[in-house]
Amino acid sequence: MRIAMVSEHASPLATLGGVDAGGQNVHVAALSTALAERGHHVRVYTRRDDATLPERVPLAAGVEVVHVDAGPAESVPKDDLLPYMDAFGDRLAEHWATEPPDVVHSHFWMSGLAALRGSADAPWPVLHTFHALGNVKRRHQGAEDTSPAERATLEPGVGKRADVVIATCSDEAFELTRLGVPSTRISVVPCGVDNALFTPDGPVAAHGEGFRLISVGRLVPRKGVGTTISALAELVARGRDDIELVIVGGSRDAAHIDEDPDVQRLAALARRLGVEGRVSFRGQVAHTALPPLLRSADLMVCAPWYEPFGIVPLEAMATGIPVVAAAVGGLIDTVVEGVTGVHVPPRDPAAVADAVEALLADPELRRSFGAAGVARAARRYTWTRVAADTERVYRRAAAARPARAAREAGRA
Ligand code: UDP
Repeated sequence: MRIAMVSEHASPLATLGGVDAGGQNVHVAALSTALAERGHHVRVYTRRDDATLPERVPLAAGVEVVHVDAGPAESVPKDDLLPYMDAFGDRLAEHWATEPPDVVHSHFWMSGLAALRGSADAPWPVLHTFHALGNVKRRHQGAEDTSPAERATLEPGVGKRADVVIATCSDEAFELTRLGVPSTRISVVPCGVDNALFTPDGPVAAHGEGFRLISVGRLVPRKGVGTTISALAELVARGRDDIELVIVGGSRDAAHIDEDPDVQRLAALARRLGVEGRVSFRGQVAHTALPPLLRSADLMVCAPWYEPFGIVPLEAMATGIPVVAAAVGGLIDTVVEGVTGVHVPPRDPAAVADAVEALLADPELRRSFGAAGVARAARRYTWTRVAADTERVYRRAAAARPARAAREAGRA
């Protein structure tokens, strides 16, 4: 099949860990590569955010990234991109007039707008993955949510107009039905993990004598790294003086870590709680450099307020370390309570401290959770399996497209 991925802000070529670059970039890159390995031709359309970028850049065998001119050729926060989505859609229509795809798969609500605009009256189906939902974000972030106001109406519209919405976890599927997306047009296919990179065996980063907890990901408040720092303070208050916390991610690399406002905020919290000597910020770490750091940890803490999917805990599982995870969103599906990790309520440092204490006290339990995590990641979450499941959804949508187009034409 000729597959067009549309990912307006999240380029598969971007550096990860900053405010707007995380799981969506990984998802689009890995899914595209795995689909190409199954013999498909994949083009990923992303917004040009740098004037020096070539129009087309090969990503992997069978995958090419196409930079689309829409808005200024410079970095723009994702929440400010809405005014450029009509132009993005028009450029897509021009591309697809000469190079038509068999299916279009858009990622994030704004890409959905552009993909649907570029596909008006087209014979191909548009499938959509939200990666995050505005109503969930608003529920948790309230006035801090910087999404444009139009998201509240435009986003459900994308869900209703797309041929199929691919949810990445069961919790998201429930949210989608609440938004009015018919359940018959929702398919659940999770994200995957690169389990050739994230393996239990391999180099281990240097570490001290005591226990090491690790947190990986963007440092935006809703990722709950503050909860993990507070849990560490709680453990210290309980007399534990043998635990350190390594925090990976942020908008700067290690050399410029002090310039990152999120690091400043979290470092201030650690100082206020008296644990600054036990917390080290590593900044953005190249994806390929993460496994040794993960292997150096006794467990991962992943305590977001909410989480549309969350690839990071899967990476910990594939590497063989247990996960203490907030029981929210995708983490409810991926982390199995009492088997690969422990579920805790979100925003509850005492619950995180309890779970960490219990795991640190029991090396056999950590080993068994680690081994179960490796097995679960290999069985359920390889990108090869995710690509095969996604391909099945594409084929069903392509087969159903003529009937749907006829229905829509009859209604018009
Ligand atoms: N990541 C990385 N280096 C960093 C921070 C994050 O490679 O410094 C990667 C991480 O390994 C994961 C992705 O970024 O693959 C984050 O995805 P996740 O779904 O956990 O969170 P999101 O950023 O999408 O909210």
